[in-house]
Amino acid sequence: MIDPKTNSAFDRHEDVVFVGDEQLGYAGIIAIHNTALGPAAGGCRIWTYAKVEDALTDALRLSRGMTYKNAMADLPLGGGKAVIYKMGADRAACFEAFGRDVEALGGRYITAEDVGASVADMRAIARTTSYVAGLPTEEGQAGGDPSPVTALGVFVSIKALLGGSVQGRTITVQGVGSVGFNLCKLLGDEGAKFIIADVNEKNLERAKALGAEIAAPDRIHAVKADLFSPCALGAGLNTRTIPELGAPIVCGAANNQLETEEDGARLVARGITYAPDYVVNAGGIINVSAEYLGEPADVVDARVRAIATRLTHVLDVAKAENIPPHQAADRIVRERIAAAKKN
Ligand code: NAD
Repeated sequence: MIDPKTNSAFDRHEDVVFVGDEQLGYAGIIAIHNTALGPAAGGCRIWTYAKVEDALTDALRLSRGMTYKNAMADLPLGGGKAVIYKMGADRAACFEAFGRDVEALGGRYITAEDVGASVADMRAIARTTSYVAGLPTEEGQAGGDPSPVTALGVFVSIKALLGGSVQGRTITVQGVGSVGFNLCKLLGDEGAKFIIADVNEKNLERAKALGAEIAAPDRIHAVKADLFSPCALGAGLNTRTIPELGAPIVCGAANNQLETEEDGARLVARGITYAPDYVVNAGGIINVSAEYLGEPADVVDARVRAIATRLTHVLDVAKAENIPPHQAADRIVRERIAAAKKN
């Protein structure tokens, strides 16, 4: 029996539930990190792990990340995440079973799409629980694919970091998948020059058609630019890449960009401004939250544009207190949660 409390990623999580159905061949973990600000919200990741303990580490780490992201975005939501590490042959039946497991938590956890999950999967979950978002929505209502909304949040942040305009500036974009591609569109529309890299040829071609220059995936971080935007995988800012970074500012959608805590300080030491990932990539969860609460689409736009103001505040706090921006963001969040607990 695995004990979450002995896992190094355990951070006083409120609840960790092992779910599954042996007959269907499905198994997963739902981690509820913190509900001080509201029900725990975060996507459901479908992934294969070498061992169950690794799936647990991911669920614990990701659910904690959602607490920080949701609190920073001023959403009435706590942090949670689900990881499905075994998926049976009857995918729809597995998601229906997962929906029942979500339902059994009585609304303490709200699920949505994450890596490996689709709208069709959310539809299957919705057959057995109402605690799900990421479903197709009606005209004028918030919801649907969160990627363009995430891209908009990153874009307004980039503009703020570059003094209000991207016109004529050079941005390097690492990863042109769902978010990176939408970001390139926004950059192109406002006259930026963008250089891209991706390991997926199809995605590369699609973004190249927008007028992008191409760089090698293992060198994109080192290309000279005004701003580097990591939109692929996490841990891209590390002891190997930081000394080689070709831009004085980093701002992108990828989750968990710093490989370790110390990498935040390494960026400061090199004079590089780092926009903390969960501050700028909250557009997706803002969209999911509005969908779940049945709010109109225009509230999402206003909230996503407010990300730029929030980022400026975080950077101001970091400067005033002489601490790395990611630490400033964490501190702001912890104070917000502590205040909510007192009330
Ligand atoms: P995606 O899978 O659609 O795109 C990722 C892209 O990165 C793919 O094209 C992939 O080929 C490419 N890639 C992978 N490894 C690479 C490498 N070494 N070098 C260059 N490119 C590489 O994912 P996405 O939805 O666009 O999300 C991108 C990142 O943003 C992820 O880290 C995700 O967790 C984060 N994020 C996404 C959302 C959202 O709304 N989709 C919200 C918040 C955070």
